[in-house]
Amino acid sequence: MTEAAFWRRCSSCKEPIGFGVQYWVCNVSTCTRPRTGFVFCSVSCWDGHLGVVRHRESWAVEKRAPSAAEWAAEQGQAASATAPSVATSPSERSPRRILPPPATREPDPLESDVLIVITKLKNYIRARSGFNTSDRVVIPLSESVRELCDRAIEKARAEGRKTVLDRDFE
Ligand SMILES: [Zn+2]
Ligand SMILES: [Zn+2]
Repeated sequence: MTEAAFWRRCSSCKEPIGFGVQYWVCNVSTCTRPRTGFVFCSVSCWDGHLGVVRHRESWAVEKRAPSAAEWAAEQGQAASATAPSVATSPSERSPRRILPPPATREPDPLESDVLIVITKLKNYIRARSGFNTSDRVVIPLSESVRELCDRAIEKARAEGRKTVLDRDFE
């Protein structure tokens, strides 16, 4: 066997993972089975495999790759020994749970769209009071409008209509 310059390759980006460096595995057992044996060079590479496999709950587990000497010893053992017990390498740290960064998702228009015309609102408040208006008021106001709409929808539904009328807001 020739001396490897690195330990293994990242299962996602295929970049080499060197000896003695930090790497990550999936907490899900099917991903860490010897046959599968996913290893990742970064949490984001671990995150990448979630697009391929579906886990209900998963996290990345931080590990440290064996040193070249340890690895050679392990390989030697695996080749010769029949010992079934898979000894954890001494360099293995206790696993640390790392949660993936929250996925960036498109804002849901049902939850977050601005339903207020801010310029008209500002004009109204200024005309009424001479006050300025923060742009952020559209967030709670939109929320209030959604609540009013939800109630109006319920009224229309209760009366067997599929059109929301002005009186549903009364
Ligand atoms: Zn990678
Ligand atoms: Zn996994």
